[in-house]
Amino acid sequence: MSATIIDGKAFAAKVREQVAGHVQRLKDENGLTPGLAVVLVGEDPASQVYVKSKGKQTTEVGMNSFEHKLPADTSEADLLALIDQLNKDASVHGILVQLPLPGHLNSDLVINSIDPAKDVDGFHISNVGLLGTGQKSMVPCTPLGCLMMLRDHLGSLSGLNAVVVGRSNIVGKPMAQLLLGDSCTVTIAHSRTKDLGAVCRQADILVAAVGRPEMIPGDWVKPGATVIDVGINRIDAPEKGEGKTRLVGDVHFDSAAAVAGAITPVPGGVGPMTIACLLANTLTAACRANGLAEPQ
Ligand code: NDP
Repeated sequence: MSATIIDGKAFAAKVREQVAGHVQRLKDENGLTPGLAVVLVGEDPASQVYVKSKGKQTTEVGMNSFEHKLPADTSEADLLALIDQLNKDASVHGILVQLPLPGHLNSDLVINSIDPAKDVDGFHISNVGLLGTGQKSMVPCTPLGCLMMLRDHLGSLSGLNAVVVGRSNIVGKPMAQLLLGDSCTVTIAHSRTKDLGAVCRQADILVAAVGRPEMIPGDWVKPGATVIDVGINRIDAPEKGEGKTRLVGDVHFDSAAAVAGAITPVPGGVGPMTIACLLANTLTAACRANGLAEPQ
């Protein structure tokens, strides 16, 4: 293996520490405690794990965590009423509705009912538009975490060729916007892209956000490239025992690490940075709501 491993777990711990320091100062100097409300509808096991982890990390950095767990058959009207209440609540600076929502609920409608200033996931159409036009916005947490790791590792990204594999609204598209904002030459690839291997081999920065286990092999990676693996895929791991599973990314780690200059592991790469950025966004929202200087 030749690649540097980008340690997202350690980086996320550093971000959380900085957030905790700011939160303490806000409490001491302004009597303000940032608050994050997380709304979970239904009992999706993965979502329950994420929500629990978000709540724990929120309180660990000194913020208030408000969890709202609603039954799977909650009506759209009831969910919108809760969001309206949270929008008006001055102690709540960030609102996150855990996705995916049960099928009878219109996710776009629900997300767009959140006050954009409290939309710490950055999915509200206003924030999407602000990001797309290079204006101050709430930036989606996963791509923000990826950008922070890239800047930390590479310094300036200006002029680099970046390929983002995946065009979802929550990862691929905002990731591409952020890289463009940092003056990369950006290609967005997806399921209809022809000769994906050749496209990936052009990338100085390769971001994989697909959701297909280990689909990007080492020979798609340009020697020396920086590889950010967003994918989280659970696969069978018979070598660990019967019925056991393990997590892998969208990139075939061993073969890619032999070629890349740097790579994020799964787990321990992008994942931890996502929640750290959620906390950072909540802090930013609290500062903006109170007319205070934003943390850099
Ligand atoms: P989506 O399913 O919404 O999007 C997947 C994208 O991959 C689509 O644009 C799709 O193309 C593209 N795609 C699918 N198959 C191929 C293929 N064979 N070749 C090229 N492109 C393909 O996924 P998300 O963006 O929500 O998530 C992507 C991955 O990231 C998942 O593994 C998810 O678990 C993970 N994730 C991790 C997070 C973290 O914190 N680390 C946070 C969010 C997601 P098309 O549009 O043409 O269908």
